[in-house]
Amino acid sequence: MKFVLLSAAHVLVFLASIQIASAEYPRNDGMLSGTENIPDLVDAINSRVLTKDLERPENFPAYLYKPKGSSHTKVGRYFIGGKYPTGPIECEHLKMHLRQSDEVLTWESHNTAASNVYYHVHRAIDYYNWLSSMVGEQINQEKKPVGIRLEMDVDWAMWIKFTKAERHNTSQTFPDVDPDKWGTPDEEREIWFFVPKRKYMPPYLITRWIPGIKDTVLGTAGFPLDAARVPTIIYHEWTHLMTRPYLGIIHDSALNEGYSDYYGSVIGGGPSMGDTEEFSTMPYSRDFSSAPDPATKKDLVEPGNFVPRFFWSLRKRFGAARTDSMLWRALKLLTPKSELLDLPPAILKAASDGTFAPDEITDLTKRLQYLFAPKNGRKGS
Ligand SMILES: [Zn+2]
Repeated sequence: MKFVLLSAAHVLVFLASIQIASAEYPRNDGMLSGTENIPDLVDAINSRVLTKDLERPENFPAYLYKPKGSSHTKVGRYFIGGKYPTGPIECEHLKMHLRQSDEVLTWESHNTAASNVYYHVHRAIDYYNWLSSMVGEQINQEKKPVGIRLEMDVDWAMWIKFTKAERHNTSQTFPDVDPDKWGTPDEEREIWFFVPKRKYMPPYLITRWIPGIKDTVLGTAGFPLDAARVPTIIYHEWTHLMTRPYLGIIHDSALNEGYSDYYGSVIGGGPSMGDTEEFSTMPYSRDFSSAPDPATKKDLVEPGNFVPRFFWSLRKRFGAARTDSMLWRALKLLTPKSELLDLPPAILKAASDGTFAPDEITDLTKRLQYLFAPKNGRKGS
């Protein structure tokens, strides 16, 4: 996933909220870790109770979940094979690392980001096992356990792997390279979760320079998002690995992000991504429940809400199991070079395998013609 950092409107919200928030400056309690971490006041207060619960040793291994119909995230606890897990946090699917360490993180660390990610990756695996049975074949399994890194704050680069470039407030699946050029099927994949933190205002804003002010909301901005604690983001990243054999891991393609947004939200149980406001300064929540408008020129090339909304509208019309497996079979007709306009023919082909009735195919064709209509001189389907 990726999103835009910082906007003037956000700064205004912070200014408005400083009154309520200034009662107590929250200490860095381990939830927001990393160097130069300046937690957002309001967010820290909102999530304080939840964070306390999350960090309670008797709740470990803890995970976060949102009960159906509730607007609040809750803390759950799990066991593995009925036992309290000990030793390295690893299994046939993944191994967990802290920052740039080669060592595998242990359960004894009581790291709740690790226990949360472990739990939700296994929910994603359960879903893909179900989908495998629906489509009649085993969906991608990486040859080596996926390395998962927590609390990352540097960027990734080919050959040297860890750069000195600072990066935060997001998550990403690697290597994000052109599979024709670099990627080999046997290569070890990694998912990185970056630290949530604020950053200083641009240099031309005087407030970022004034001692006593520069470390407050007046001198800083940003969008601290603790992606390792947002279940749908964990599902989104795992989905990038499942779709990799067809779409590669090239970020910022409308198809690639759209597929991860759709299956990520499906595993989450509803048409939205994010929606774990306790771990994000500006509620990171994207809603896919409304029907999409016809694709714009921008939708054709940039990731956004168009693809996940379109997929969810199909799910509403044709049902969960049929839609999820039809979209997976459509995915198999795509390649890393596919563009959004390659999607309608792939969908029609996938739907024409007997699982959709003739009148449903007619309905589907009409929808595709309406939503993917030729626009701005581009050729439609
Ligand atoms: Zn993504």
